[in-house]
Amino acid sequence: MTPADSDDRPRSPDSDQWHRSPDGDDRHRSRGSDHQDRRTRREQAVRSAVRQGLISPEEPVAGLLDVTGIRRSATALREAFAELTAPGTPVLHAFAVKATALVPVLRLLAEEGLGCEVASPGELALARAAGVPVSRTVLDSPAKTPAELREALALGITVNADNPQELARIDALVRSAPTGSPLGLRVNPQVGGGTIDAMSTATATSKFGVALLDEGARDWVVRAFLDRPWLTRLHAHVGSQGIPLERMAAGVRATYELAEEINAAAGRRQIDTLDIGGGLPVNFGSDEDTPAFATYARLLRDTVPGLFDGRYGLVTEFGRSLLAKNGLVIARVEYAKTAGGRPIAVTHAGAQLATRTVFAPGSWPIRVEAYDAEGRPKSGPAVAQDVAGPCCFAGDLVAENRSLPLFEAGDLAVLLDTGAYYFTNHYAYNSFARPAVHGFTADPAAPQGVRFSVARPSQTVEEIVAESGGGQRDAFITEG
Ligand SMILES: *Cc1c(COP(=O)(O)O)cnc(C)c1O
Repeated sequence: MTPADSDDRPRSPDSDQWHRSPDGDDRHRSRGSDHQDRRTRREQAVRSAVRQGLISPEEPVAGLLDVTGIRRSATALREAFAELTAPGTPVLHAFAVKATALVPVLRLLAEEGLGCEVASPGELALARAAGVPVSRTVLDSPAKTPAELREALALGITVNADNPQELARIDALVRSAPTGSPLGLRVNPQVGGGTIDAMSTATATSKFGVALLDEGARDWVVRAFLDRPWLTRLHAHVGSQGIPLERMAAGVRATYELAEEINAAAGRRQIDTLDIGGGLPVNFGSDEDTPAFATYARLLRDTVPGLFDGRYGLVTEFGRSLLAKNGLVIARVEYAKTAGGRPIAVTHAGAQLATRTVFAPGSWPIRVEAYDAEGRPKSGPAVAQDVAGPCCFAGDLVAENRSLPLFEAGDLAVLLDTGAYYFTNHYAYNSFARPAVHGFTADPAAPQGVRFSVARPSQTVEEIVAESGGGQRDAFITEG
């Protein structure tokens, strides 16, 4: 049996694949100047990307991932919970794959001890391609097909049912074949939304989970557990960007209280694991990692002390907060022009990469930095200008009327904090190629001391033709 084979066996929550809280003392490493380190690493990476030809007139846009930064974020997450949980408490941090759907990223996080939260057959395939053990894989989508459920239960990955109809499908599968899958139910504690409607999963009418405060819902949930001894987990994800931490913690508390009620009714610890979701917001305004995982974990400990006393295994599902600040997009300024007196930098990064920012700029502003053609930060007086993308619609702006050193043709616009939900959430408008994504790490032996490795090559025009029906050219031509 190969190690990969052995990874595919279902495991119980107390498997050694999970983290256990360290009893040792080496978990208080200082991270005070992390944000300065991050800026230094970024500036070196941009300069080296130019010198090493990753960005050029022929390759005018690329994504970069800070491998050191990703490792530090993973460590910060692990330590934040390890510090507060009772020794021996199983804790699984499952990265929300949709945030950065790249196999090398999932692999790196797996090496850091994390797992994956997946929500589609594609995401599950990515987690498997990365070698993420089934014991560390959690399936959560709101629209799982019968085939997806069957595959998940056959593999033994964790499944959180979204609604009563899905639970009925799982009933039938559980009756027809034994499964090693830990099974749970997602609830919506309906604690309210945040500043971004599209990101608010716990409003009264959110589409996710069983809406707990609806008439009769809570009793139905309790009954559903009592009727199904194999249902052992409760899941809630109260997110995300724009939600106050206190509201997230209130959602976790409501979920915990429901678990206590169910276990009391069952007369045993039927629910053994609570999945508290992800949703920690990210600071898009500076290089600082605020709020920190440690801040949220402490707030949870103060709000829901019972969560940490070892009676429940814990699962988290953070995405944005692990990756956003560890990624950037470099885009060449193709032309610099003016219109109506306003300077406009026409770059190669627009709606196809920064989709949310372009369509909802009020909710998703991102920082843009100006670098010269050699990859050095530009100085000079700030001038209000637009930073536009290459797409053929007028609103394709990643920053409007933004004060920055004046861009010239050949300069580089660097889009910060774009490691999550940007370059792997590509939008196919105008058939622009998905850009290459490179990881970078410091390496004294490498040119300029920075080593790049390709996480994903750029899409070729042949691939664009192929996925756009190139092989079906004559599909609509009737034979004469
Ligand atoms: C998207 C999602 C997450 C991750 O959310 P972030 O805001 O990126 O942390 C976690 N759990 C579920 C169920 C999700 O849909």
